[in-house]
Amino acid sequence: MFEWSQEQQMVRDAVRRFVDAEVAPNVEALEHGDLPPYDIIRKLYTTFGMDAVARDRFARQVERARSGRSDGAPRREEGAGDGGAAAMTLIPIVELCRYCPGIVTAMGVSVGLAAGTIMKRGTPAQMERWGLDLLTLDKIGAWAITEPGSGSDALGGMLATARRDGDEYVLNGNKTFITNGPYADTIVFYAKLDDGSDIPVRDRKVLTFVLDRGLPGLEQSKPFRKMGLHSSPTGELFLSDVRVGRDRLLGETEEERDGGGRESAKDNFVTERAGVAAMALGVIEECLALSVAYAKDRMLWGQPIGDRQLIQLKLAKMEVARLNVQNLVFRHIELSAAGKSLTLAEASAMKLYSAQAASEVAMEAVQLFGGNGYMAEYRVEQLARDAKVFQIYAGTDEIQVTHIAKDLLRR
Ligand SMILES: Cc1cc2nc3c(=O)[nH]c(=O)nc-3n(C[C@H](O)[C@H](O)[C@H](O)COP(=O)(O)OP(=O)(O)OC[C@H]3O[C@@H](n4cnc5c(N)ncnc54)[C@H](O)[C@@H]3O)c2cc1C
Repeated sequence: MFEWSQEQQMVRDAVRRFVDAEVAPNVEALEHGDLPPYDIIRKLYTTFGMDAVARDRFARQVERARSGRSDGAPRREEGAGDGGAAAMTLIPIVELCRYCPGIVTAMGVSVGLAAGTIMKRGTPAQMERWGLDLLTLDKIGAWAITEPGSGSDALGGMLATARRDGDEYVLNGNKTFITNGPYADTIVFYAKLDDGSDIPVRDRKVLTFVLDRGLPGLEQSKPFRKMGLHSSPTGELFLSDVRVGRDRLLGETEEERDGGGRESAKDNFVTERAGVAAMALGVIEECLALSVAYAKDRMLWGQPIGDRQLIQLKLAKMEVARLNVQNLVFRHIELSAAGKSLTLAEASAMKLYSAQAASEVAMEAVQLFGGNGYMAEYRVEQLARDAKVFQIYAGTDEIQVTHIAKDLLRR
C-alpha cells in the first residue's frame, strides 16, 4: 500500500466534511469552553452508521462467547486479513486530529480501552451489561490503571487494593490522569488482590473490575487543567471502601486466564500505539498544509517567506516526517489486511517515531508562523500543545525505547 485506495479516499473525504462542519466550528468551545466532546463523537457515530456496525459486531462477539469460546474477542482464521477494518478505523482518527486530537483520545479510551477490555475479558453477561452501551457511545467509559505513585511502573507500582470480604470485594485506592474520569458512566478499574498473604505487593495478582458512576465510596474529580488536549477531560478517581460483588470482577474469576489483569493491561499495546501514529499523522498533515499556505502568503522584504531556504528546510523536514509516519501507518494497515500484526518492537518504534515527529513538526510550524504561531487563532499552537502528549501517554518515549530494546534482545 503506497496511497489510500479510492474507497478509502471517499471515506476520508466524507469524514473530512463531517469534521469541517461539526468539529471545526466547535473547536473554540471544546478547547477553551466547557463543551465535553461526547455529543460530537456520538454524532460522528450515527452519521457514519458506526453505532449500527458496533451493534452487529457486538452481537457476533457475544454469540461467539456464549457458544463456548474462551472470550468474545473477534477472531479470524489464522492468516486471514481484517478486510480493511484497520484502515476504516484509522481514517477518522487522522481526520479528527487535524483539528482536535482530544476528541480522538476521549473516544479511543471509551471504545478502545474500556469497552475493548470488557469485550475481551468479560463474561457474556458482563459484555451485555456494559459492553454494548460503551461500543455505541450511549455510555462513556474510562480505563483506570495509572496512580500517583506508579505511572510508567503501572503494574508493579500499583497500590490500589481489592480485599475479599465474604462474597464481595472491598476496593480502595486513587487513580490519576484518567481520560473521561470526570464524566465516565462505566470505569474499568485495576487493583491488586489483597488476600492477606505475604506475597510482596509488587508481585500480587492484578484484578480488573467494572464500576458504575455513583457507586458508594467512588468519587470522580473535576477535569484537570492541563497544557493541551482540552477537549479530552482528564481527572482523578478516589475509591474508599467501595464494595462490589464478583459480578463486577471481569471474567468473574481470580484465575489468571490469558495472563489475568497484567496481560489485560498489555492487550492493547499494538492497537493503541498504531492509533497514536494515526493521530500523529493527522497533526503532521494539518501543520504541513497550514505551513505551506502561510509560507506562500506571508510577505517580508517584498517576498513570500517560502522563498527563504531556512523556511524551505522546515517544510522539507515536515514532508519527510509526513511520508515516514504515513508509511508506518500504511504498513500497519497492510499487515492487518494480511492477518498479521506488528511485533512489540515495531509497534513501539512506530509510536516513538510518530510521537516525536508530530511534536517536532507542530513546534516548527509555530516557529514558521512567527508571532502568529503563538496565537490561538492560527491553530498551530493548539496542535503543538496537543501533540506533546503523544510522547507521554500510551507509554512515554522512554518506555517505548525499553520495549523496543527488550523485544529485540529476547529474540
Ligand atoms: C492527557 C493524559 C491522559 C491520560 N489518560 C490515561 C488514562 O485514561 N488511563 C490511565 O490509566 N492513564 C492515563 N494517563 C497516564 C499516562 O499513561 C502516564 O502519564 C504515563 O504512563 C507516564 O506515567 P507518569 O506520568 O507517572 O510518569 P512517570 O512514570 O513518573 O515518568 C517520569 C519520567 O521518567 C521516565 N521514565 C520512567 N520510567 C523510565 C525508565 N524505565 N527508563 C527511563 N526513563 C523512565 C518517563 O519516561 C518520564 O520521562 C494519561 C496521561 C495523560 C497526560
